[in-house]
Amino acid sequence: MYAPILEIDTKKVTENAKKLHDFCAQRGVELTFVTKGFSARPEVIRAALAGGITSFADSRLKNIRAAKQAIPGLKYLLIRIPAIMEAEDVVRWADWSLQSQIEVIRAVSEAALRQGKIHPIILMIDVGDLREGVFGRAQLDEIAPQIKDCAGVELVGLGTNVGCYGSVLPSVENTAVLVELRDYLNKKYGFSISVLSAGGTCALKLLEDGSMPAGINQLRVGEAVLYGEDTTGNRFLEGYHQDAFRFKAQVVELRRKPSVPIGELGRDGKGDTPEYPDRGVRLRAICAAGKQDVAWAALTPMLPGAEMIGASSDHLIVDVEDCGGQVQVGDWLTFRCGYMAVLDATTSAYVDVQIREG
Ligand SMILES: *Cc1c(COP(=O)(O)O)cnc(C)c1O
Repeated sequence: MYAPILEIDTKKVTENAKKLHDFCAQRGVELTFVTKGFSARPEVIRAALAGGITSFADSRLKNIRAAKQAIPGLKYLLIRIPAIMEAEDVVRWADWSLQSQIEVIRAVSEAALRQGKIHPIILMIDVGDLREGVFGRAQLDEIAPQIKDCAGVELVGLGTNVGCYGSVLPSVENTAVLVELRDYLNKKYGFSISVLSAGGTCALKLLEDGSMPAGINQLRVGEAVLYGEDTTGNRFLEGYHQDAFRFKAQVVELRRKPSVPIGELGRDGKGDTPEYPDRGVRLRAICAAGKQDVAWAALTPMLPGAEMIGASSDHLIVDVEDCGGQVQVGDWLTFRCGYMAVLDATTSAYVDVQIREG
């Protein structure tokens, strides 16, 4: 049966992983590879292992469990702050976890004691992105002694996250907060906090500039390894493969049409009112794949001259006017994938994932 294809070149992933792992290691930083963007497919994890990466992270316990069942011995950090009802599974499947809320930490602590374990945690500090984390010194002084009282967890690290909700960029100032708070907590409450964890890909810029505050010793990174891209920082990383992930869909219609829809315009399929610039009559290819398969806006056609113009739930529309008449019905068009494209393609039931090695 026909299915659009997500093709993964694991050799390129290995090369990216090795390059970034070595770059971080030379600067005293452990690269923790974030696997949520490809649903923790074991082939990609093996490619990262081949590049020297030994530390992994995912936001979903389901991914962590599947990865560990496929590849025993993986070390995994849970990076979505967990729900209380996940506490048993957190302790069972994650080697350590990011945390921000005492009710959850207590539940995890109790689960750990029941399982005969001490579960290491990294406390998230909100430095302004306004997603997860303790906000301000008063909140920190409230939670610190409460964590001390939880016998089943050990506070081993502090972490911060930027660039996700608030699109705040990492800076020397907002990252150095971790160093200051580590010293404060260790001194005042007698913790042995040793891990300072920053992320994601956008934090690499500080390491490249040589301005990463001393003491930051873990970077949680997915995008750079997978796509050689830093979306928040709006740049591609030099020397990294950017096309390890390719999406392919077959052309099912090829026709010249005007670029502006004809008739009175209502809302599109998503309820939006998009603009349609008038570029005259253009040759358009419809490919058999859509929003049920892939985040189309994160696709870039690889054929020179081709341009992605839109999608509905089941159709991708590509302008191929400037492709010199090369495209035929029945051809597979190939697209470079960004983060959201692979996130969708690996979670869609309709996409055939194919692994290529080189
Ligand atoms: C997704 C995520 C990352 C990785 O971000 P990339 O931009 O893919 O490098 C790091 N930390 C947390 C908490 C995340 O959720």
